[in-house]
Amino acid sequence: MGEHKNTCPVCASSMRPIGGCYSICKTCKYMMSAEPPGAGAEVVSLGAVREKNFRFICRVIKEKFSSLDLKTVLDVGSSTGHFLDVAAAEGFSVTGLEPDARLADETRLRGRDVVAGFFPGADGIRGQKYDVVIFNDSLEHIPNIQEALRGIKAHLGEAGLAIVNLPTSDGIIFKASSFLYKLGIKTPFGRLWQTGFASPHVHYFNLRNLRRLFENNGFKLQYSSPLRYYTIKGLWPRISCKSPFLVSFFVWLALILLYPLLRLRSDCFVACFYLPRI
Ligand SMILES: [Zn+2]
Repeated sequence: MGEHKNTCPVCASSMRPIGGCYSICKTCKYMMSAEPPGAGAEVVSLGAVREKNFRFICRVIKEKFSSLDLKTVLDVGSSTGHFLDVAAAEGFSVTGLEPDARLADETRLRGRDVVAGFFPGADGIRGQKYDVVIFNDSLEHIPNIQEALRGIKAHLGEAGLAIVNLPTSDGIIFKASSFLYKLGIKTPFGRLWQTGFASPHVHYFNLRNLRRLFENNGFKLQYSSPLRYYTIKGLWPRISCKSPFLVSFFVWLALILLYPLLRLRSDCFVACFYLPRI
């Protein structure tokens, strides 16, 4: 898949296997899974939390970066087109990029512009420039991260912004799952990586190593913020779709009881990187 599995793509230290298909960088704590990646397979019942996060991100683009006058947006891995709908309603000119033909077709039926294919190789975006290139839960699925970074540079216009919205290995749920994994209880950890699902995560970053990766490649972190990882609304179907009833029930109950605590150290965040042109 183009990347050396034993070398950290962030800091070039050696990766240490931690069992299963997973490894971690000893230096910067970047994590990798060797699970073969795939396309598509929408995670169900994320609508409510996504809606809140997408509106928040659109406000960030407008308010924090008003001087850049950002208009055109490429949404890499546009999936069901939810972000395209929110961003279009906020006045942005949006294009989706989606490898799953069914999801792309459904989004086009709502009048959205969706290009078929993977980032950055898709024919339909060749030579195109955008003010914003955004990854909503998609960067962690792209096997060759260096190629993705080159793609961002190629597709960002002057004064462009790369925005990454993704899960973090600093989150409380991830930390708890890692702890259970070390004790031999491996299911929650695998679930966070979506191991065994159609589209597993290849990478797990935190803000520090994601920032280091981008800044090594000429970007500058301009803004970051925790995002909501879940809302009470929509939590039950999201959990119960993948686990037996009793397991689902106790996970659901724990997540409701811990909700105030988990908001303090969320399991996902958004980071905005500016690319200065020399
Ligand atoms: Zn590293």
